[in-house]
Amino acid sequence: MPTTALRRCNLCEAGCGLRLEVEGDRIVAVAPDPDDPWSAGYVCPKGMAIAAVHHDPDRVRRPLRRRPDGGFDEIGWDEAFTFAGARLREIRSAHGADAIAVYFGNPMVHNYSAVFMLGALVNTIGTRNRTSASSQDTAPRFAASHYLYGNTLLLPVPDIDRTDYLLCIGSNPVVSQGSAMVTPNVRARLRAIGERGGRVVVVDPRQTETAKLADEHVFIRPGSDAAFLLALLQVLVETGRVDRERIAEVASGLAEVEQRLGAFSPEATASFTGIAPDVTRRLALEFAAARRGVAYTRIGTCNNAFGTLGTWATDLLNIATGRLGAEGGWMFPEPALDGAQFTRFAGLNGHARWKSRVRGLPEIACDLPASILAEEIETPGQGQIRAMLTLAGNPVLSTPNGPRLDRALERLDFMVSVDLYVNETTRHADLILPPAWALAEDHSEPVSPSVSLRNTVRWDPPVVARAPDELADWQIMLRLAEELGGGPVGVRWVDGLLRRIGFRYDPERALDLLLRLGPHGDRFLPWSKGINLKKVQAQPYGLDLGPARTGIRHRLQHRDHKVHLAAGPFLAAMEDLAREIMCPRDGGELLLIGRRELRSNNSWMHNLPALVAGRERCVLLVHPADAARAGLRDSQPARLESRVGTVIVPVRVSDEIMEGVVSLPHGWGHAASGPWQAVAGAHAGVSANDLTDDQHVEGIVGQSILNGVPVRLGAVADVVAA
Ligand code: SF4
Repeated sequence: MPTTALRRCNLCEAGCGLRLEVEGDRIVAVAPDPDDPWSAGYVCPKGMAIAAVHHDPDRVRRPLRRRPDGGFDEIGWDEAFTFAGARLREIRSAHGADAIAVYFGNPMVHNYSAVFMLGALVNTIGTRNRTSASSQDTAPRFAASHYLYGNTLLLPVPDIDRTDYLLCIGSNPVVSQGSAMVTPNVRARLRAIGERGGRVVVVDPRQTETAKLADEHVFIRPGSDAAFLLALLQVLVETGRVDRERIAEVASGLAEVEQRLGAFSPEATASFTGIAPDVTRRLALEFAAARRGVAYTRIGTCNNAFGTLGTWATDLLNIATGRLGAEGGWMFPEPALDGAQFTRFAGLNGHARWKSRVRGLPEIACDLPASILAEEIETPGQGQIRAMLTLAGNPVLSTPNGPRLDRALERLDFMVSVDLYVNETTRHADLILPPAWALAEDHSEPVSPSVSLRNTVRWDPPVVARAPDELADWQIMLRLAEELGGGPVGVRWVDGLLRRIGFRYDPERALDLLLRLGPHGDRFLPWSKGINLKKVQAQPYGLDLGPARTGIRHRLQHRDHKVHLAAGPFLAAMEDLAREIMCPRDGGELLLIGRRELRSNNSWMHNLPALVAGRERCVLLVHPADAARAGLRDSQPARLESRVGTVIVPVRVSDEIMEGVVSLPHGWGHAASGPWQAVAGAHAGVSANDLTDDQHVEGIVGQSILNGVPVRLGAVADVVAA
């Protein structure tokens, strides 16, 4: 008889409720959980495929050691750890700790026990060459929060369940289910805005799935979101819609920003943004007039040439209209596991405390931009990267100029990957250490509650038992740390002491400790009504600690408890952008943007038949006028070329994309992993990061520019001729 397990999906931030039918170690059925109070029966196709990862015959189950011919042999865990430890120690003692780089991917942030071990492992290695998927799409958000609110992980979220006006720029939440915004079933939530008389406006170079549901969609030229946001702000200042006295009570620096706003009138920005001045003016006044409103921007705004400025300008627009900390506005969650509370302790609250060796790009929250990896491997000298540890990541597909990194990885002295699959990146590893799949582990979201509309906390037990020879991610990370002389804390003398007294680390106990010391915790007081892990575990759907509180002072972390609007890097970036919008534009420009697909989870899950079935998804969207200019018809393969590379990709001609813009989804390009992932190899597609440029980065945090990449488009015959 199958048993039923309730589980929050760990595949993305939305955390939808699942019901899984289990027989022994088999998951025989997956269904949406209609009783889940948060997702209320919503799941996406990825969630429905979660058991297929568990049963995927191509998933790596035992440690693999690479042979000289590029193949792999299975080895035992002890041999694997001894080998990894010896090589990493050797490289560290010969070349220093920075010779070992660490890259971690997005799945890590949905795995509490791995997140808890990450800092300890990196500290034990002692490297400053740490980078991650977040450095590709969230670094601007961290920087904006750091300078505005005094904490990199203090992240405001749009209160879309109570707003009357959602201005959604560079984001497609109907597909993503919210990014830096936990919102399962966004489609229903957006409809609810309309049902209560509100309005949704989407500004995007593509008529996205969200735009199709909106009351209005406005095309915008890629890379110009910051200029558009500043133009909205300029209109509000010019028309007296900004209450300076009220802002002065909570924030400093408005005057310095205002002084620079003159350059961003709707007329001055129109040719740069592609948005007519009267539309910008109307949207600004409409937004300000809404009873409750919020501006929300995400990846499209974030990873372009002025991405950090655009992210900061989003907050300024919300602040200027009194929406920060207001119901239906831009609110700070106060989660049970509070990332912002621990940033100082974990050393995550900072920017530019160190820089990359070759190009001098800054860290943010301890991460350097991922685009540094290839040059840091290739360039000789003290601190050259000679070894890499990747954790649940595939930077060859996820970071710009993937082919260059692909070649650079072959030059490493040693590489170890903690990963479920042999993929485009891990195929270069000398050693692959496969963790148990998440369903064989307990689960509690460590990061998503920090961007959740409601303060919830939930813990789920393992759905299936771990096989006897399987290890969890955290156990692998702990063993690696121990091989390097460390342990669960990442401070050598403390770990040494813990070893001597026979302390056994347990992530559940660590979770309990953090919950008890968090904003809703019981502080170990027996009479307290606060929470602890036991209370959370007693409820199958966890605890709902209510919506985000109104107000902001309880969350601000600058010493003066004010928002700092005018940090130097943003004022300088405003001046740079003011010059940029005056530059003449190439009339025939073609700019590449990314695209998120409901059945894709960044660069993985393409080995699951259910997610790649049906029509081809890795296609290039091209406007009919651009297709005609390039001599292309629908479904025909085209050649797309940038400064760094060329791909051949089928075209889908559609007027859902703005003229002068083409769109390619990210995370594809699996030809190289075909020998190990049969399904993904058969649906390889091409990688958008074969075209993005590792040398072209944003100015404040050095984030890769993945939207607004200049490209040329032609028929495939041109390739042959060339
Ligand atoms: S939206 Fe899909 S992938 Fe994300 S949590 Fe829900 S079911 Fe899982």
